[in-house]
Amino acid sequence: MSRVLVVEDELHLAEGLRFNLEAEGYAAEVVGDGEGATDKLLRRKEPFDVVVLDIMLPGKDGFDVVSELRAARNYVPVLMLTARGRPEDVLKGFAAGADDYLAKPFDLSILLARLQGLLRRSEWMRAGKSRAAPASQNNKSDIGDFGRFSFAGKTIDFGALELRWGGNTIHLTLMESELLRHMVQNDGKIVSRKQILEEVWGLHEDTDTRAIDNFVVRLRRYIEDDPGSPRHLQTVRGVGYRFVAEPGR
Ligand code: CA
Repeated sequence: MSRVLVVEDELHLAEGLRFNLEAEGYAAEVVGDGEGATDKLLRRKEPFDVVVLDIMLPGKDGFDVVSELRAARNYVPVLMLTARGRPEDVLKGFAAGADDYLAKPFDLSILLARLQGLLRRSEWMRAGKSRAAPASQNNKSDIGDFGRFSFAGKTIDFGALELRWGGNTIHLTLMESELLRHMVQNDGKIVSRKQILEEVWGLHEDTDTRAIDNFVVRLRRYIEDDPGSPRHLQTVRGVGYRFVAEPGR
């Protein structure tokens, strides 16, 4: 049974969520502030499979919570709840290390679909640590049997959610890793923002594509020698992006 932590100070909403999650077969717990969330996740190290995190919380807000988690190397998948019409919150949340977001007010079925998406991806990632990726995920790239891909002296380990080079290791969030995987699997091909929204985020709705651009900026900081003039993760003006493992070859 998957364990969900709901971090939300509006008691009515929080209890409604808990009730519905339990009805759907999840084990759900509620905390009403950010301090309570970091206490459970970091201090007590309670194991949760996914966190539903409201941004607007008394005291420590949702951005603070997710930044603290990531700084402490806790990579539990986080679904942020944002107020409608605040794309800057989405960008800030992704920058802090959130994996996905949902604007309030939301439909319960959408929330459940997003949670399932996050859980599926994290299970797949964990499985990737010990066994080969499914053939269908593997057919047009050089992602090896252990879910790794190397280029320009760097190795992406999709199972461990790590990027390694020399003696350095950077941990990737689920979404960073998924976006990199998608780009690597399409090595040399142009990938549109719409494709990324649909195939990486699983979104078919009209989502602000700046969230993708923000991810790309972060990934460039990890994989490019000079993020200001990227060689591997290139912008294709007006269309999207293209990953090139070996530029100039
Ligand atoms: Ca709130």
